[in-house]
Amino acid sequence: MRMVRAGSWLVLLLLISVFAAAQDSLSSSSTSSSEGQPAAAPAAAPAPVPAAATDTPSQSTQSLPPVAATLNDVLDRVVQREHYFMAQMRHMHPMVETYLQDLKNDSSGAAVPSKDQYFLGRLDMSDGPEDTSFTGQPGFGRRVVARLTGVYSLHFLPMGFAQMVILDSDFQKKYYNFSFVRREFLGEIRCLVIDVQPREGQKVPRFMGRIWVEDQDYNIVRFNGTYAPQPKINFFFHFDSWRLNMRPGTWLPAYVYSEESNMKTGLSKSLHFKAQTRLWGYDLKGLNKNEEFTQILVDSPQSVRDQSDAAADATPVVAERMWEKQAEDNAVERLQKIGLLAPAGELDKILCTVVNNLLITNNIDLQGDMRCRVLLTSPLESFTIGHTIVVSRGMLDVLPDEASLAMVLSHELAHIVLGHRLDTKLAFNDRMFFPDEDSFQRLDFKRSAADEEAADNKAMELLKNSPYRDKLGEAGLFLKALQEKAPDLPNLIRPHLGNGLASAKSVRMAAVLAAAPALDEKRLDQIAALPLGGRVKVDPWSDQVELSKAKSVPLASAREKMEFEITPFFPYLTRLSMGATDKVALTSSSSSTTQPK
Ligand SMILES: [Zn+2]
Repeated sequence: MRMVRAGSWLVLLLLISVFAAAQDSLSSSSTSSSEGQPAAAPAAAPAPVPAAATDTPSQSTQSLPPVAATLNDVLDRVVQREHYFMAQMRHMHPMVETYLQDLKNDSSGAAVPSKDQYFLGRLDMSDGPEDTSFTGQPGFGRRVVARLTGVYSLHFLPMGFAQMVILDSDFQKKYYNFSFVRREFLGEIRCLVIDVQPREGQKVPRFMGRIWVEDQDYNIVRFNGTYAPQPKINFFFHFDSWRLNMRPGTWLPAYVYSEESNMKTGLSKSLHFKAQTRLWGYDLKGLNKNEEFTQILVDSPQSVRDQSDAAADATPVVAERMWEKQAEDNAVERLQKIGLLAPAGELDKILCTVVNNLLITNNIDLQGDMRCRVLLTSPLESFTIGHTIVVSRGMLDVLPDEASLAMVLSHELAHIVLGHRLDTKLAFNDRMFFPDEDSFQRLDFKRSAADEEAADNKAMELLKNSPYRDKLGEAGLFLKALQEKAPDLPNLIRPHLGNGLASAKSVRMAAVLAAAPALDEKRLDQIAALPLGGRVKVDPWSDQVELSKAKSVPLASAREKMEFEITPFFPYLTRLSMGATDKVALTSSSSSTTQPK
């Protein structure tokens, strides 16, 4: 076992993520125009593609396959691809998560979160956009019609946000006016940028805004705008919707950012919020591959023992361990299958490195293996399932440094070291037969208050012997910031499967909190917590997680700290190369997300 002594967690993570497949640098379009005569568009064809100011005419014609030499041809292809997209989406059942922060102006006039809302569900568009709720709010299971009716109510019905993955469920040229704007790169994807407006006299609300169309297959990869006309009773929000190239030739929704700053909704009420919607878990077939369990049968010490001494039954102690392990494996497997837990990967190893640092410096030899896994959701939570430590993506995002990560992991490790048991009812496989949307009710890894306190105390002991003991001030600052924001962000800190890191009244690891220096919001060099979404990147197809490669940028003002806040999405779009069907889609946050060390 190797120890990592110094350096920020981020640096460590970045080093490891170097192993990830390097992306080809920005390459020019490989589309060949040899078989056609791009310059010789038929004279009768209406509305030729205007040469963009940023492009020479020869480039713009060469980049297009001969069949789409005019804007009209391009639009035919776009409409065709969009109908194909809709047909595909009816068979897709990704997870959909929307996290929304209401904003208010603070004393300095800056917009800060004042409350928040959270929704997690699975999208089912087989009969229009609908989702199955995991979080149990009333009204979420309701079916809505496929047409774009007023689903974005004041109550932030989540299908309102899920709907924003659809431009128009019946996209037709005849409903819209189009005007070509320019060519533009999104990441390494060259796009045609086209403004889209519904024609006069449309009976149903339709998309109004701008679309980005990649110039090989003419898929829409981004659209930004709203639906119009606004209905009388409900409201359409503005949104910025992104699709990623997840399979060759297939672009599927991954991110939607929505924001309203002064939306009048009644006599006195006005809406002021920002919201992030993320989709993942598209490859349900892949997720349902039952690899986890077989791996564990091969890997576990018990099975090795079985092979070497086949005649012996398990001793009572070993039988008890095997029984607990079975419950643990069942739960981990189930969480991964339904798309809540990322498959085992590189990021888990990084978390394990930190845990090992704690184990080695405390001379602890855990009986049985220890695993770390990433929960794919935003709310800040961590918990243990037997010897598996689970940390949420949102938690990993906001932790500012390795010491605060070690603090979170030390508490979970303490549960393991203290032998706090997993409820072994999960060892009976029939207990796993429940609908996915009941997961939060059926899988519960909460600990008693007494266990929590014992774990906090043990964790302090572990930290004090560790290389992190001199850096607990930063971890304390994180807890202080969390304590300060907790009353305004109850949904971010509300755990769904384990115990909360904080409540409106108390914060975990009070001893670390008490020893923290003063929190100074104005100091640019004091980063107590990071914004959401800047660190962990989820592949929406395979659910694999990795570290974002985006470099941190110096903050221009204290306002840019945006602790625990959400920001717009700017993924770096890439195209899957032909033949590389197993390659994952890669995106990364852009500099819009600050990421200080
Ligand atoms: Zn705990």
